[in-house]
Amino acid sequence: MVDSKPNFDSFSRIWFLSLIIFIFQFIQTNAISADEFKLSSSQQKKLDETFKFIDKLEPKKLKIDKSTYQKFSKFEDYYKFHFSGKKLSKWIRNRIQKFSFGETGDFIAMYQEEEVFLGKIFFTLSPLERALVLIHEARHADGKQFAHVICPDSFEFLNPRDWKIFPAGKKGCDSLAEGSYGVTAAFLFEMGAYGFMSQTEAGLRYNSELSRVLRK
Ligand SMILES: [Zn+2]
Repeated sequence: MVDSKPNFDSFSRIWFLSLIIFIFQFIQTNAISADEFKLSSSQQKKLDETFKFIDKLEPKKLKIDKSTYQKFSKFEDYYKFHFSGKKLSKWIRNRIQKFSFGETGDFIAMYQEEEVFLGKIFFTLSPLERALVLIHEARHADGKQFAHVICPDSFEFLNPRDWKIFPAGKKGCDSLAEGSYGVTAAFLFEMGAYGFMSQTEAGLRYNSELSRVLRK
């Protein structure tokens, strides 16, 4: 899950979403239309544009020195292929079978059983941010070991999307380096290394993602 607002913890949110899904299935089996859970054509277009954005990221020449690249690049370790937009799109699609529009409450998106629920904020984000959300959610498909852990009460980093969200004490951190925040950081590093983004922007975003990975 990618958080957008505070209040509920993610556990309560999952129960809340389960309830919504139950109601939705109940409505469906009772033959009453519940189209609001299907992506609208403009939402589907935004989603398609996100994949097109990712597809175009084919690396050519490194824009940083090779020793720095070798020191920090984790992409191949985590994804098991060299950075390639087309392969990354496939990596996401292999993990998310269905996209729906749903009430995601405090989150931008939620992964549940091969399905991702996209909240309305998702469709207002830039292509890069939407790509980060999809990568983040796709990692959750790789198993429960990638579920978030509670950020310590002393967690001092800001949530860059919304400063009113305090990650401290909430299930918004990772205990594994290669979790949802680790894979997005690895992606951002390649984006900067191959010149798809400025080093400044890639570096700041990379640091921000890694702030959610708890060090032992
Ligand atoms: Zn998550």
